[in-house]
Amino acid sequence: MKLADRVNRIKPSPTFAAAAKAAAMRAKGIEVISFAQGEPDFDTPDNIKEAAYKAIREGITKYTPASGFPDLKDAIIHKFKRDNGLTYDRSQVFASAGAKLIIYNLAQALFQAGDEVIVPAPYWVSYTDIVLLMDATPVVVQTSEDRGFKMTVDQLKAAVTPRTKAILINSPCNPTGATYTAQELRDLVDVVLPQKILIIADDIYEKFVYDGTVFTSIASLGKEVQDQTVVVNGVSKTYSMTGWRIGYAAGPADLMAAMDKVQTQNVSNPVSFCQKAAVEALAGPQDSVQKMVAEFDRRRKYIVQRLNAMPGIKCAMPKGAFYVFPNITGLFGKKWGDKVISNSGDVTDLILEEAKVAVVAGSGFGNDHYIRFSYATSMANIEKGMDRIQEALKKLR
Ligand SMILES: *Cc1c(COP(=O)(O)O)cnc(C)c1O
Repeated sequence: MKLADRVNRIKPSPTFAAAAKAAAMRAKGIEVISFAQGEPDFDTPDNIKEAAYKAIREGITKYTPASGFPDLKDAIIHKFKRDNGLTYDRSQVFASAGAKLIIYNLAQALFQAGDEVIVPAPYWVSYTDIVLLMDATPVVVQTSEDRGFKMTVDQLKAAVTPRTKAILINSPCNPTGATYTAQELRDLVDVVLPQKILIIADDIYEKFVYDGTVFTSIASLGKEVQDQTVVVNGVSKTYSMTGWRIGYAAGPADLMAAMDKVQTQNVSNPVSFCQKAAVEALAGPQDSVQKMVAEFDRRRKYIVQRLNAMPGIKCAMPKGAFYVFPNITGLFGKKWGDKVISNSGDVTDLILEEAKVAVVAGSGFGNDHYIRFSYATSMANIEKGMDRIQEALKKLR
């Protein structure tokens, strides 16, 4: 089949691919421990499930307004006020079937051939491919571990051209956990604001911060910044609702209207009763979040300590999100059977085959010297997984 060029330009999401590989091994009866997908292992809180049951019983099972019911928009507005001190009206908020589709619709509404989008690496796997699907060009800025995986002002200045349309900021970051301070964000804003470059802030990990780290939404840095920013967020991570597919955005009304138009031509609307569950998640009791974050904090410390005890692996303590992103260059050049380990894919293969543990190669996140573990899985799994990797590394010569 002769496929469109655009589809040949992209790859399947590496996190979904890694999860599929693990599932295929499980289907063969092999017991695989997966650190591949970024998905909290907690159950969705009961109050949220009840809201969905109630909505179904009440017959809320039909098409809805494209960008969400008015009460969902009000819950989103309430959330931004409560958590970020941001004021929006209904014309400035938008709901979709997950934050990924928010970014996709945003890209459809904004980007075309010739446009450049600045993406600091390591980045979330989908940013660059979504930009490529729109015929636009991702401009990848490689950040370094000794600067905490944060883009510097000089790096940003060097990446900006007259074609720069937008910049993507994901803080806390998937995969590195890098979390920008308010001052660091301000310094970046000073570069892009005068150039009228749109800021896309993916705040989906805002609740997952540790060691007293304070989250700042870039849009909260002033009215002028808010007017030039689209905030992307969702309920998937915060409320352990990955399967419900509800994400939301806030930003300029004309852009939200354009995304609404696009959405009427793709998914039509986010699932009706999931919207009602999202209202409960955003506006109802919030205590489940702190419980989950406290447990993730415990796992974070444990997994970092275990990884650092392994020869050839160096793992920094992340400040946010629920991933660790250890440097594995210490394993390069070692022999695994006939094979010489030389990139993150080799390490991922070694760990999957020898330890039956699934992780994601750093190459998918734009840096081949690292691998990513999600620690949003049980402590028992983490312990067992670490034991197995430690054993598997003994196969290297
Ligand atoms: C998980 C994730 C998303 C997508 O979340 P959904 O709402 O489940 O589509 C977006 N951005 C980042 C950085 C993520 O890790």
